[in-house]
Amino acid sequence: MELSLNSSVQYVPRVGPSMAGKLRNLGIETVYDLLTYVPFRYDDYSLISPVARVQPGETITVLGTLTSIKTFVTKHGKRLVMARLTDDTGHIDIVWFNQQYLVKVLHPGDTLSVSGKVDWFGPKFVFSSPAYEVIHDEEGKGSLHTGRLVPVYSETAGLSSKWLRGRIDYVLTHCLSLVTDRLPKEIIEKEQLMNVREAIQTVHFPDSAESADRARERLAFDELFLLLLRAYEQKHLWDTTLKAHPLGVFAPSLLAFEKALPFTLTTDQKTAIQEILKDLARKIPMNRLLEGDVGSGKTVVASAAMYAAYINGQSSILMAPTQILAEQHFQTLQMILKPLGIETGLVIGGQKKSKQIETKTARILVGTHALLTSDILPRKIGCIVIDEQQRFGVNQRAELRKLTHTAFTPHQLTMTATPIPRTLAQTVFGNVDLSVLISLPSGRKPVKTWVVPQTKRAAAYAWIDKELTKDRSQAFIVCPLIDESESLGAVKAATAEYARLKERVFPKRTVGLLHGRMKSDEKTAVLDAFRQKSIDILVSTPVVEVGIDIPNATIMVIEAAERFGLSQLHQLRGRVGRSDKSSYCLLFTENETPEVMTRLKALESVHNGPKLAELDLTLRGPGELFGTRQHGVPGLTLARLTDTAMVARARRSVGSLVTKDPNLTAFPHLREILDQSKIDSIKD
Ligand code: ADP
Ligand code: MG
Repeated sequence: MELSLNSSVQYVPRVGPSMAGKLRNLGIETVYDLLTYVPFRYDDYSLISPVARVQPGETITVLGTLTSIKTFVTKHGKRLVMARLTDDTGHIDIVWFNQQYLVKVLHPGDTLSVSGKVDWFGPKFVFSSPAYEVIHDEEGKGSLHTGRLVPVYSETAGLSSKWLRGRIDYVLTHCLSLVTDRLPKEIIEKEQLMNVREAIQTVHFPDSAESADRARERLAFDELFLLLLRAYEQKHLWDTTLKAHPLGVFAPSLLAFEKALPFTLTTDQKTAIQEILKDLARKIPMNRLLEGDVGSGKTVVASAAMYAAYINGQSSILMAPTQILAEQHFQTLQMILKPLGIETGLVIGGQKKSKQIETKTARILVGTHALLTSDILPRKIGCIVIDEQQRFGVNQRAELRKLTHTAFTPHQLTMTATPIPRTLAQTVFGNVDLSVLISLPSGRKPVKTWVVPQTKRAAAYAWIDKELTKDRSQAFIVCPLIDESESLGAVKAATAEYARLKERVFPKRTVGLLHGRMKSDEKTAVLDAFRQKSIDILVSTPVVEVGIDIPNATIMVIEAAERFGLSQLHQLRGRVGRSDKSSYCLLFTENETPEVMTRLKALESVHNGPKLAELDLTLRGPGELFGTRQHGVPGLTLARLTDTAMVARARRSVGSLVTKDPNLTAFPHLREILDQSKIDSIKD
């Protein structure tokens, strides 16, 4: 059967349905997947030596004739295969353990290439379980498993790296010519990249470490190029296919808005509002991400957008991930908008009908996902705001946008406290515009942060107790996340810690407990008690409402801090330092290895969220950025987002390509890839 790049791997000779099933575990389904399954390292067997020159301890290749092979049982009952390899200069013995079948596969007289480490075996030296391969003396056909840089692949049960090597060699020989270079020639030339076929061949079977690097560079470049091109395409589609109501705001109205605020806006808030108003005035829907630390004041920025919708006769909705946050936003919005005579409504699950009717007249609605199914939504939604966007699924966001009953797409603002490093913002979020709040509202001081080793724990508790008395302030104690998300384990840890602290450490204090498995009214009750200062110390699990705003709490203790990413720690720390009082963050850790200490100590000196995110990205990879241990960035295997030089090169290439040919009409190969990302998927 004729193989194409899209053929199932099962049709590759010697694969079949059963091995194809195993390949699927490695993410390999098609011939193309197999071709591009890159090795994670190479064994360097390129040093070839005559038998007489072999030294023990060396990793080396010897080529010779197999002169004998037999099984052998040691005194201790171990089964070995012993063989002898002979060349013009002498002979060397080979021992294989537990590979009895070799006597059936290898025969005296075979030309054999053997690579591996040479060890002492009694008085003489031998190859011990080396890689081997019978050389069939075919013209021009090099070795695969020995005598070269040998690719080593990630394996799975029942499927070895050696077997993969053979199958990959087959598809390289028979199918590589089907691969077309999707990168435009100009870019390949300008960036001095290897051509794609050579890169795929070389990444498997390089003739030097340098050529392997060049091959990897080319393939990594492709990944970044495509990622950036997709982002461009998404933005291009968004801009050219969606229509919005322009929501212009004249200067006097904006002034009225600012004047009604109980505080003055920070410079960053002003800039963000300007950026948003500029977007809103266009006929293209806004698609903007507002990034700012907890407490940086995102809600007021969002309220400016909703205010713009309001004065243009349109409604707005703000969706928050939890009821507590929705209620908090509702209060903030009321404080901001009431003085302007604008009514705000709250939509949460399980509300009474009468309450809903009362809300019906409001043109600015705040709520949880209950908004999605609410029957009191206004028809003309000009603007939607989504808080903590990564906590909503893609579907929920798409559904939200569909709430509008007209041909117009609402302007969209998403808010996040997750700091996003610049490199990531430009690539993964390349299709959205970004506004960032770095400066904190005036009067706020950076949270003093200390890493507290085990030996200082008792002293730290005593200090906390004193501090709580001194200022009548309050403390959070966050217990470790056992698994990635809020698992039962975290609840148990918090519950046990709560009991311990209450009984043994702070017997004279009121200690409260908050965790994700509590019912939502129980949570509200505990938080209200904390807010009203009838609880001194709140023990909680990490997922406790990120945006919670309790200005009197000035101490944040984090247990097992080493289990968190720097960004997450920074976000947790952001729950204190929300007033003009001094605040403190104590990072407890029982793991005092130098790496952990260095990483955690970064928080003592760095108070800038995006900077910490950048550090996280270099230290722990992109999976940490969203607080969950994701696989990384989809589509990137070889490319590193931390490779800023490469990201810049790929960006430049995409930029020059799309300026010349925005629809990529001259590049059908690229067009084809992009057409797989449809408008619907891009809207998210
Ligand atoms: P977040 O960015 O975490 O969502 P919020 O919008 O909840 O932050 O704002 C946190 C607190 O700071 C709120 O009580 C808000 O009223 C207040 N705030 C926002 N902007 C300012 C400012 N410029 N000056 C003083 N206080 C502000
Ligand atoms: Mg918030």
